[in-house]
Amino acid sequence: MSTASSSKTDDAEALRRHRILSSKLYLDVPPSKVPLIYSSSYDISFLGIEKLHPFDASKWGRICRFLSKDGIVDQKHIVEPVEATKDDLLVVHSESYLKSLNSSLNVSKIVEVPPAAMLPNCLVQQKVLRPFRKQVGGTIVAAKLAKERGWAINVGGGFHHCSSERGGGFCVYADISLCIHFAFVHLNISRVMIIDLDAHQGNGHEMDFSEDRRVFILDMYNPGIYPLDFEARRYIDLGVEVQSGTATDEYLTKLDHALEVAEKKFDPDFVVYNAGTDILDGDPLGRLKISPDGIASRDEKVFRFARERNIPLIMLTSGGYMKSSARVIADSIINLSEKSLIDMKSLPAGKA
Ligand SMILES: [Zn+2]
Repeated sequence: MSTASSSKTDDAEALRRHRILSSKLYLDVPPSKVPLIYSSSYDISFLGIEKLHPFDASKWGRICRFLSKDGIVDQKHIVEPVEATKDDLLVVHSESYLKSLNSSLNVSKIVEVPPAAMLPNCLVQQKVLRPFRKQVGGTIVAAKLAKERGWAINVGGGFHHCSSERGGGFCVYADISLCIHFAFVHLNISRVMIIDLDAHQGNGHEMDFSEDRRVFILDMYNPGIYPLDFEARRYIDLGVEVQSGTATDEYLTKLDHALEVAEKKFDPDFVVYNAGTDILDGDPLGRLKISPDGIASRDEKVFRFARERNIPLIMLTSGGYMKSSARVIADSIINLSEKSLIDMKSLPAGKA
């Protein structure tokens, strides 16, 4: 590397550091709150346009309503994140990528809602991009909370198809890459394991950390569906292919084996768990046949893996937008609580 280009890299790194240290996303969370992160502005709903999409675009709110109805958490103990600003997003994204989102046509392609192309961009910003920026803020602050409490769940996030330069597959911002860069600078973290169990390949973070030895990627995905990103597959450290039609027992056996292998290959000080539920039987996109109980067992295995080793972990809900997904996710969180892998009780204010 020439001196000129290495000083350019140094400048870019210094600017990134400055942006992270000036950010308002790492809010102080009182002990009265539980490390469950959600805002009503996560949910995308306007003009009925969300009904055109095969997605349940309000699953995030429904998960929280199930949890609160079942007495697992009081709504007032849930952490409300801050929306990521342009400066926050520039920690990973380029100016040119963010500028491309000023075109409603581009956004409509990324979120796969063609009629959004016809809308004025201010409406797209307010009704589509703002909810996503709130979820990005949720993923980023989740890392801080996990470091303090051992675990955190962002009820949204997990946009694993988006990289610094390219969005796609409903993913507009690279929340996973952003969260990890914030954690490197703020949390004294240097070895991150991404466990990506969404049905789809996580090509966004794979491209972003292609050259970064601090990040180990375990990706278990269906190789026959979107995104078919063969370049990004080269950057998976431990890839486990699960073919269309794979059922629960085979899936969980493969996961057990993958976690054993991963542990031998890499010693993480932080785990990012991308817990997409599009592996559910009947999901038209994921094409796998995992039962609701299988989802709960899967999440339990990953939490056990991290919690028994005292490695802070965050869980992101990622893909899986069938009407049944929200109930399945809520049930899995309840199972984690029953197995004492998470503690949903809040402490009285003033007691740390
Ligand atoms: Zn997916």
